[in-house]
Amino acid sequence: MLNIQRLRKDFPILEREIYGHQLVYFDNAATTQKPRCVIDVMTDEYLNVNANVHRGVHYLSQQATDLMEQARETVRRFINARSTSEVVFTRGTTESINLVASSFGQAFLDDGDEIIVSEMEHHSNIVPWQLLQSRKAIKLRVCPITDDGRLDMEAFVGLFNARTRLVAITAVSNVLGTVNPIEEIIVVAHAHQVPVLIDAAQAAPHQAIDVQALDCDFLAFSGHKVYGPTGIGVLYGKESLLEQMPPYMGGGEMIGKVSFEHTTWNQLPYKFEAGTPDYVATTGLARALDYVTAIGLPAIQAHEHDLTQYALRQLRQIPEMRIFGHPSPEAMGKDTQADGSAVISFLVGHIHHLDLGTLLDRLGIAVRTGHHCAEPLMHRLGIEGTVRTSFAFYNTIDEIDLFIAALQRVIKMF
Ligand code: PMP
Repeated sequence: MLNIQRLRKDFPILEREIYGHQLVYFDNAATTQKPRCVIDVMTDEYLNVNANVHRGVHYLSQQATDLMEQARETVRRFINARSTSEVVFTRGTTESINLVASSFGQAFLDDGDEIIVSEMEHHSNIVPWQLLQSRKAIKLRVCPITDDGRLDMEAFVGLFNARTRLVAITAVSNVLGTVNPIEEIIVVAHAHQVPVLIDAAQAAPHQAIDVQALDCDFLAFSGHKVYGPTGIGVLYGKESLLEQMPPYMGGGEMIGKVSFEHTTWNQLPYKFEAGTPDYVATTGLARALDYVTAIGLPAIQAHEHDLTQYALRQLRQIPEMRIFGHPSPEAMGKDTQADGSAVISFLVGHIHHLDLGTLLDRLGIAVRTGHHCAEPLMHRLGIEGTVRTSFAFYNTIDEIDLFIAALQRVIKMF
């Protein structure tokens, strides 16, 4: 059992009032709040250590470099990568996927090759592949979802052919909360000798990740969604693949030797880290991962599961409520995969999602509205957008009660 009231004290922002109401922050899938320890460790680095990494002989530069490499080791441990060579720092999930699209695309894809994605992908796992299409005539094969918001695994299996080169798929939908069976997906893909990229942006804050146990080939996540700072993220890649891929960007640190005639590349992972990295954010990210690990992801997951199930029960009692994803237990029978992540998307009658979100905000409830960067999924669902609540471990049942009461008040206005 987590002591939520004690943990909430780590997040001063949760004490804010919005329009005279206690803030209820239910937009955690967009970004999580930061504990004081993350803010403190970054402030301390700027106040006492700051110097550019890797290129200095002086004390501060070496200290900053050590902190950054310790952070890389913390990330390695967090996802259980074999080696820190497999941990590339990026600006976030988006940059990580763009890196793979560009470099893996250049190394391994030819005209006519195919990549499998799914209908529930975030734009970050669609558009990079489309950008690649301007350079190579690759095809995107899209795995459909079922009406209750799960991957159609039968269809998935049927998408493979001799031209399939990569599966790029999200572990958890940022709209539906659907938790995809990535273990099974990886087994199926590997049976066809096809590598798999996992978009773990919505998984990393909620469930333990073990890239060796999963045997995924690439995995991307963002620091800011896992209680860390903005502007920092991770690309995990198997060394054997990263070694064969060309650099993504050129500049300082990613080189071995440079001349106007010929330039060689640095070793992994630096080959993919051109320019001055956000070495303060790497320290903040490591602190956030240590913080989450100390609380314990299984305890976090259990608490968030309780919150989600409680919210679903309350929401389902509201007339004209439409919840997307999260099939009800009755509909699912004994299927334990029914449990989704801590994200709930919904609409009420014909009330516009933006109106609901705006009025909830006036009552202090922060939710997200819109297409959630998943327009193809909105098309599939036949809607323009949803209201989305998303929970973190610092949220409480009391906050859900406040939210439901506010929602009922707003609905009455229509
Ligand atoms: N994938 C998913 C599933 C996401 O939810 C998000 C963020 N909403 C992203 C990718 C992109 O993450 P970022 O903006 O941090 O790069």
